[in-house]
Amino acid sequence: MRARAVVDLAALRANVRALRAAAPTAELMTVVKSDAYGHGMVPCARAARKAGASWLGAATPEEALALRAAGDTGRLMCWLWTPGGPWRQAIEADIDVSASGLWALREAVAAARACGRTARLHLKADTGLGRSGCQPADWPALVDEARAAEAEGAIRVTGLWSHFACADEPGHPSIGAQLSVFRDMVAHAEQAGLRPEVRHLANSPATLTVPESHFDLVRTGIATYGISPSSELGAAADFGLRPVMTLSAALASVKRVPGGHGVSYGHRYVTPGETTLALVPVGYGDGIPRHASGTGPVLVAGKWRTIAGTVAMDQFVVDLGGDTAAPGDEAVLFGPGDRGEPTAEDWARAVGSIAYEIVTRISARIPRVYVGEDGGTGN
Ligand SMILES: *Cc1c(COP(=O)(O)O)cnc(C)c1O
Repeated sequence: MRARAVVDLAALRANVRALRAAAPTAELMTVVKSDAYGHGMVPCARAARKAGASWLGAATPEEALALRAAGDTGRLMCWLWTPGGPWRQAIEADIDVSASGLWALREAVAAARACGRTARLHLKADTGLGRSGCQPADWPALVDEARAAEAEGAIRVTGLWSHFACADEPGHPSIGAQLSVFRDMVAHAEQAGLRPEVRHLANSPATLTVPESHFDLVRTGIATYGISPSSELGAAADFGLRPVMTLSAALASVKRVPGGHGVSYGHRYVTPGETTLALVPVGYGDGIPRHASGTGPVLVAGKWRTIAGTVAMDQFVVDLGGDTAAPGDEAVLFGPGDRGEPTAEDWARAVGSIAYEIVTRISARIPRVYVGEDGGTGN
């Protein structure tokens, strides 16, 4: 096989259990948006359910509907709505929907009336992130209209929620400020008569480090996949998390070249002396950042190497120096790190990004190979 991403579902289940233990008084929502951060949405969702995720979270309604089509029947929420829906399909599929403003609430109510169902709806507050969510000044009107729609039976407000801006920066003043605004907005909604099942604010970093943010439900994405939300917070292992994805490729060519030989497009690398070059058959068409040219780490022939020259669409080169390898030998781009390979976090540092992006951008051209599926060993 040219290349593959091995996805260790036993590690994913263990991570879900570790996250439940980190927030023992709250329910857990495993966030599986963007194809489970590149790991494969349906297999990861199933593994998370097995390990006790009572909720799943998706960004788009299309993702949530795909989970239903794959047979998931548990509590499932999606939050990234645009005018036109598909509200009705989501309501009929028993998906919890979300509204950040009156337009969304009104579309959800109209869809619920049209299909004769009660929509389960979460009202989203902007407590400081400045992205989606209802501003505090607009909250009373949204709450009042939601309460009226609830009285009529069109919706049931099942959740009040918000999202952090800087929970991955320990001690950032916005964390306490957002908590305080959230408490006020929840209190206002409850005084107005709303009785949500779940109030929720925490993402992975807040789940791991801000216990007062747990409320009734925590929404964990990145930590599920065994990746620390930021190195400032600690390493994945410090939180009992193990990386789930290992990305590797089979060397497509190994050859001797003389000194002074240009390597890959633009000749950004020139061999310093006679050496051995190995060709790794993955490139930016597979989601390897082109920014990794000259910086990305890869384990080949027992050592960390740095990509030599430019990452092309389908391939890049590493200079093995005095070492040798054979075509077909494995190059490991990233994994848990315990075989000496780089981690997704090492890649993030090398290319000036975050590990979230490194795993999520691995494209569909790389087959996902699932291991640890059966849980036969009791995990
Ligand atoms: C992506 C996302 C999460 C999960 O964030 P992580 O940092 O990956 O845990 C939680 N809530 C919302 C609204 C999100 O968009």
